Amino acid sequence: MSESTSQSIDIAEHPVLHPVPRCMYEIGGAVGELLGAVTDQWMLVAPKANPAMLEMFADRDVVPFRDKTPWAGEFAGKYLTAAVQVMKTTQSRELKAWLKEFVGLLISRQAEDGYLGPWPRAARLTNSGTWDTWAHYHIMMGLMFWYEETGDAKALECACRIADLICEKYLGEKSPRLVDTGSTEMNLAPVHSLAILYRKTGNRRYLDMARQIVEEFGAKKDGEFLAGDYLHAALAGKQFFETPKPRWESLHPIMGLAELYWIRGEKSYRRAYEQIWWSIVEYDRHNNGGFSSGERATGNPYDPSAIETCCTIAWIAASVEMLKLTGDSVVADEIELSTLNSVMGMHSFSGRWATYNTPSDGARFASAHHIVFQARPGSPELNCCSVNSPRGLGMISDWAVMQSTDGVYLNYYGPSRMIVPLSGGVSLEMEQTTDYPASGRVLIDVRPSKPCELTIHFRIPYWSERAAVTLNGTRIQEVKPGSYLAIKRRWTQGDRIEIDLDMSLHFWRGERDCEGLVSVYRGPVLLAYDQRYNRARHAGEKAETYGQDPGQALWNMLTLPTFDARSLALEPATWDGWLPPHMLFTVKTADGGEAMLCDFASAGQTGSLYRSWLPFEGAPKTRLFSRANPLRSVR
Ligand SMILES: [Zn+2]
Repeated sequence: MSESTSQSIDIAEHPVLHPVPRCMYEIGGAVGELLGAVTDQWMLVAPKANPAMLEMFADRDVVPFRDKTPWAGEFAGKYLTAAVQVMKTTQSRELKAWLKEFVGLLISRQAEDGYLGPWPRAARLTNSGTWDTWAHYHIMMGLMFWYEETGDAKALECACRIADLICEKYLGEKSPRLVDTGSTEMNLAPVHSLAILYRKTGNRRYLDMARQIVEEFGAKKDGEFLAGDYLHAALAGKQFFETPKPRWESLHPIMGLAELYWIRGEKSYRRAYEQIWWSIVEYDRHNNGGFSSGERATGNPYDPSAIETCCTIAWIAASVEMLKLTGDSVVADEIELSTLNSVMGMHSFSGRWATYNTPSDGARFASAHHIVFQARPGSPELNCCSVNSPRGLGMISDWAVMQSTDGVYLNYYGPSRMIVPLSGGVSLEMEQTTDYPASGRVLIDVRPSKPCELTIHFRIPYWSERAAVTLNGTRIQEVKPGSYLAIKRRWTQGDRIEIDLDMSLHFWRGERDCEGLVSVYRGPVLLAYDQRYNRARHAGEKAETYGQDPGQALWNMLTLPTFDARSLALEPATWDGWLPPHMLFTVKTADGGEAMLCDFASAGQTGSLYRSWLPFEGAPKTRLFSRANPLRSVR
C-alpha cells in the first residue's frame, strides 16, 4: 500500500521504492484487453450474480443458518481488494461508481461491536472451525485500499471498528490468545492489516496487537509450534518449505514483517522477510512464475501438484513488498514473469472466469468447476480464487512505475501511457510504443509537463544479456542486465528512449519430476506446446479421454515430439482460426518435422491439453533463470 502516514507517527524506515499515488495508467495490448474484459465480465457483475457475498453478513444470525465454507467471509474483502486495484490500473469510472455502492452495502452490514463476518453472535471472531479473523483481514485490506483511492472516511472507520474488535478480544493477557484459536496461517494475517492501519491512524493499540501477533508466531503447545515461527525460522536460515506452516496463506502474516520493519526499523524483520522471499524463488516458484505445489511450499519447483491461483496472487503481493523493501530490479523481473505467464494464463481471455490451478502441464479448468465444492445458493461462482485472481492484474498499479527519493522507476514494459505526478505540480508522461513482449523493442516518449531535472531508472531484465538503449538516438554505454539503468538529465518534451531487449531464447533444464525436460523462454514469456496448434500430430493416437476430472494426472497424457536445443529457431506464425493465441511460432523438431509453440498464457485457453516442460535433445546448461540468492553466502 502507498504511504499515507499520519503526522504524529514516527516511521523508522521508508520503503526504498513505493507505488505512485494518483498515477494515471492506460495499459494497452493483451494485458489491457484482459483488464477491460475482467472489469466488464467479472468485477462489475460478480456481486449481483453472487449476492450471498454480501447477504451472508446480513442474515448471519438468522436460522436455519446458511451452510458456509470456513473462509466464506473472505469473498467480499478479496473481491474489493482486487476490484480497487483493477480500478487503479484502468481508471474505470463505471467500476468506481459500482464500488462506491458496494462499499456502502458492505459497511451497512457491520454489527454494532464492529463484527463484519458471516458467523452467528456466539462465534464472532472465536475462529472455532472458521477462518473468521482471516476474513476480517481481507475486508480491512479492501476497505483501506478503497480509502486510499477515494478518501472515504466511512471505509477507514469501518476498518478501525474491526481492528478495535480484534484488540478487544485478543490484545494483552487474554485467554485464549489469537494463536490458540487455530488455522493460524490464516487467522494471524491481521498482523499485516493492523500495522498498515496503525500508520494511517496512529492508534497505538493496533501496533501493539500487530507486535503481539509477531510474538505469537513462535508460540508452542506440547512442544509443537502453533503457528509458523516465521521470524525465528527464517533468521535461523531455514527455507520456507522447512518451516512449521508452509501453506500459502502464511505469506499474508509474513507481509506484516515488512510493514513492521518500516514502522519500527527492526532489521531482523527485514532479514527474515528477504530470506523467505529468496527461499521461495529458489525452491518453490514454478517455471510459469506460479507459486506453491498443492497449496504449499514443498521445496520442489518440479512438483506437478496444483499451482493455486490464490498462492500466486499472494506471491506477487509479497514480491511487491520485497520490491519496496530492496529496490532490486530482479524482484520486478520475477513479478513480470508471474504476471505475463501465470496471471494472464489463469484468466479466460473473455474475463468471465479464472482457474484454481494453472499448471505447467495439463489443462485449464475454471475454478467454479474445479473447486465447485465452495459454491452455495446465492454464490454459485464464488470461491477463494475467483474473487482473488483479478488482483494479479490490478497489482500492475503497484509496480509498473514506482518512485523513490532519487527519482522514478519504470518496471512495466508494454503498450501503455502513464502519467506520474511529480512535486511542484509537474507531471511526467511516459508513452510506450511497442508490441513487447512479442518483440523486445520498446520506444518510450518522455513528456514532462515542463522541463525538469530528474533521474528515470529503466529496468533491464536479468535475462536480457545484450540490451541496447539509446537516448534521442545516442547509444548509452554500460547497460547492465539485472539492474536499473539510471538516466539523469533535464527532461523535455520530445525526449525519446529506445530500448532493445535481448529476446534470444533461454532455458531451464528440469530436475526431479521434470528430469530430461526443458522450459524455453523468449524474454519473460514461457513457451508451451498446445495440442490445439499441433492437431495433425495428434490425430489417430491411442484412444484416451481427458477433461472430466480435474484431479486426473493430465501432465503425461500429451505425447510430444522431441526438440533440439542446438537448432531451435522460432519462425513467427499466425493462426487464421478463431481465438488466436497471443504468440505462435513454428519450430523444427529433432526428427526433422515441424511443430508449433505458443505463449504460456494462451496455452489451453480453449480446453486443449498443453505442456511447458518439453522433451529436448542437446539441452543447454541452465542459465540461472533468476539471480542466485545473495543471502546464501552470508549464512
Ligand atoms: Zn484459491
